[in-house]
This record gives sequence, C-alpha cells and structure tokens, in this order.
Amino acid sequence: MNIYLVELIVFLLVALFVTILFKITKKHKLKLTLFMLFMIFCVSISSTYLLEKPHVDIISQEISLQINQYSKITVPHTTYHLKDVTSSVKVNGTVDYNKVGSYKIEYEVPTIVGEYSVEQTINVIDSIKPTITLKGDKVCSLSYSAEYKEPGFTVEDNSLEDLTQKVNISKEDISDTEYDIIYSVEDSSGNTAVERRKVLIIDDVAPVISLNGSSSMRILVNGTYTEKGATAVDEKDGDLSDNIKISGKVDTSKAGTYTVKYTVSDKSGNKAEKTRKVTVYKKSTNSSGGGSGVIYLTFDDGPSSSITPKILDVLKEKNVKATFFVLNYSSSLEYLIKREYNEGHSIGIHGYSHVYSDIYKSDEAFMNNVTKLQKKIAESIGYEPTIIRFPGGSSNTVSKNYSKGIMTRLTKSVVDAGFKYYDWNVSSGDAGGAQTSAQVYKNVVNNLSKSRSNVVLMHDFAGNTKTLNALADIIDYGLENGYVFKPITKDTPMVTHHVSN
Ligand code: ZN
Repeated sequence: MNIYLVELIVFLLVALFVTILFKITKKHKLKLTLFMLFMIFCVSISSTYLLEKPHVDIISQEISLQINQYSKITVPHTTYHLKDVTSSVKVNGTVDYNKVGSYKIEYEVPTIVGEYSVEQTINVIDSIKPTITLKGDKVCSLSYSAEYKEPGFTVEDNSLEDLTQKVNISKEDISDTEYDIIYSVEDSSGNTAVERRKVLIIDDVAPVISLNGSSSMRILVNGTYTEKGATAVDEKDGDLSDNIKISGKVDTSKAGTYTVKYTVSDKSGNKAEKTRKVTVYKKSTNSSGGGSGVIYLTFDDGPSSSITPKILDVLKEKNVKATFFVLNYSSSLEYLIKREYNEGHSIGIHGYSHVYSDIYKSDEAFMNNVTKLQKKIAESIGYEPTIIRFPGGSSNTVSKNYSKGIMTRLTKSVVDAGFKYYDWNVSSGDAGGAQTSAQVYKNVVNNLSKSRSNVVLMHDFAGNTKTLNALADIIDYGLENGYVFKPITKDTPMVTHHVSN
C-alpha cells in the first residue's frame, strides 16, 4: 500500500476526531488545546513510525563487475525499524555474470505499509586485457643457418574465450642481426594485448678445414715431410685458408708418431681444428726368412667413375703402383685408363666382356674377348698389354657349363700366344664376404706372407667404398712391415691357381 495514502487516511481520521471533539467540548478551551497538542504528537509519532523506509545498503545505483568473477547476487545488507531484515529481502531479476551485459535488479523489502523496493543496475563488463605467455625464451639466439621455429605461446583472457586462433603473429626487422616476433590479440570486448620475442641472429657455424693430402701420412726415417697445408672455408666469412695456424713439428730423423694441428677461427670466434697424423717409421727387416715380401695390389672390373679416381688418388699419395685388370670402358671413362697408365700403374686385360656364357663358350670366343680389349687399350694408351686375369680366375668351374676343359686349354694357349695370366693368393673378399672396410683390411693383411709374392685381389667397380676406405691402411700396414709394392709387368712371374676345368 502507498504510504502517502496511509498518511492521508490517518490525517483524515485525526481531523474527524478533532471536529467531533470540538462540537462536544466548546467550553473547555485549555483542556482542548492540550488534548489537541497531544493528539498531534501521537499522530506525528505514529506516522513517523509507519512511514519509516527500510535501509537497503547498496553501494551505488549502478555498479560494474568484471565478467566471470561472481556467481550469484549478493543481497545488500538491509535494516528496517533497527532490525536486520536482509534475509527477508526478495530479489527480482537475474544477472548472467558470465556474459557481458547490463542487468536491472530490484530488491524488495516487506514493510508494515506494503512492499518497499530499490532498483540497481549491474553491468557485467570485461575491461581486462588478455595475457599472452610466450613459451621458450623471450630473447633467443638463432643460428643464421637455422630456420626460426615458433616455440609457441598460450593466451588467457578473463572472458574465458579461447583466443588462440585470434593471435596474430608478425615479424619486425630491427637490424641485420636482430628481429622481433610480435604477438597481438584482441578479445571480444576490444581489450588488446601485445607481446614481443626478440630473436638475435648469430653465427655459430664453425669453418670447415680440409687438409691437402691425407690426414694420416707415413714417412721413412730420414725422408722428407712436406707440409701440404690445408684450406678453410666458412659459410659466412668465405675463404679463411690464410688464417689457418699450423702447429706441431715432425722430426723425420726420429721414428715416432707426430701430430700436426691446423686451427682457424671465423669472425664470430667459431673455431675449427684438424690434425694430421704423421708416422715416421723405420723399415723393418725381413724376418720371415728369404721371401720376396712383394705385394701386387690388383683391381678388377674397372674402371668406374665413382671409385677408380679415388683409388688412384690414394695410390698417388702413398706413392704405390698397382695393377688394373680392366673391362671394356666407355669413351667417357677412357681418361681413367690413361691416368692409370700415366701414373705408373699396369694395365691388364680382364676381358671386353665379363659374361661367362659368352666368353667361355669356346676357345675362340675367349681369345677374341681378350684381343678385342687389348686392341682398344692399345689405342687409348699406345701400349699393348699382355697380362691377363681370367674372369672368375683360372680355377673357375663356371666355365664347365659352357665348354668342358676350356680352362685347361686356355691356360696353355694364352701363354703360347705370348700372354701371362695372374690369379691371386690374397683375396680381399670385397666382391663377396667382406661387408665393411675393416673386413677388407683384415682379409688382406692377415693373409700376407713374406715368403712369397702376394697378389691381392680387389675391385674398383662402382660403389666399392669398402676397398677404397681400407686401401690407405692396407698400404700403411705393408710399408710398415717391410713389404714392397709393385705393379705386375710382363716380367712378373705368374701366380696361378689349380685349374679345375
Ligand atoms: Zn672380374
């Protein structure tokens, strides 16, 4: 009920009462006046009491609250007639604290004269900016040779909105050696956040030193050590060969192992180092009694563009001559036959073809296979080779399939025709059992003998890195143990197998 109506009714009742009293007691003026005053006092007291409003303790008519921080409306502390009536306050209206918006709420307090209400506007707002947290370092260094990899980030916002996909990543160049990665994001309420990651571009790539010549050299006592030097290249600084510092002395008058060290730094201080092992050795005396201790290194089935040049390099560096039993070669590989010959190696005939069914089908076919290649080699180098290695060796039995007894006949007829043929007594296994260069090395050095000529079977066909990588060590072993390396020539006594066909 409206309190003004209550007040009016009370006033009218009092007025009516006073009028009636006037008519009854006209003579007693003083009494009447006192009574009137008393009545007015009573009326004002009672109306003050009746009309007192409850006190609803709201902070303000309109308040703003951050989103997602509250879950329910807190009823304001309310008193009425000096009593706490908070618990009887009724709340009209709802607030979604998880959604930005403006919500009207009414607090309703029951009073003697009816319901009393107070309104309040609650604004749910988001004025807090999101937080971007960078994973990894905020300042990071990156090699110029590496690609930048985003370490990632997380983004949180009080709105609980997933802003990950909204983050914009951009790059800002600061200088040649520095840039910033900028992460920025804006939430739905327009609050923006920015983070920066600094990337410093560094040179952490060391130069590369390449030794001229082998990293492992062997010299006879009182021989000459020639410093072949090295080259150095840095991706950033280019050719640094002139900056290489060489340290370590080789005393060729004294047997021993010496280390020559090559060091270089690039402009950013990245260091590179390489060493060369130089062994100064004494020739060991022939201890196994009277044998020749000669090693004939032989390479079959070449030439190949991938392996033959590198084998020639090793032989050149070690100053060792060998023998190449070659197959037919294309014109693009002719230079290898020339190189072999010009560098002092022997060229022998393995055959124009290596196909057993063709070459061993008749004596004539075999001889043609030899002379056809012999002629071609003569055209290449101007020298007609007369040394032969039978494909499969003279002991092969595969030829039985094509012509019975052909090896018995050929081993005689080739000699009659002025050729010499060479089998082997040391097999490197590089075309069969040996899987690694260590096995090739073992197969060779374990089967060498001082008491004979050692004809070592190896191959320089394409891809045969096993033999290539073992070769220097095999030569070193031979030299250190008093062997002499020789190429097979037309004057070399034949080394032959037992013929089985
Ligand atoms: Zn062969």
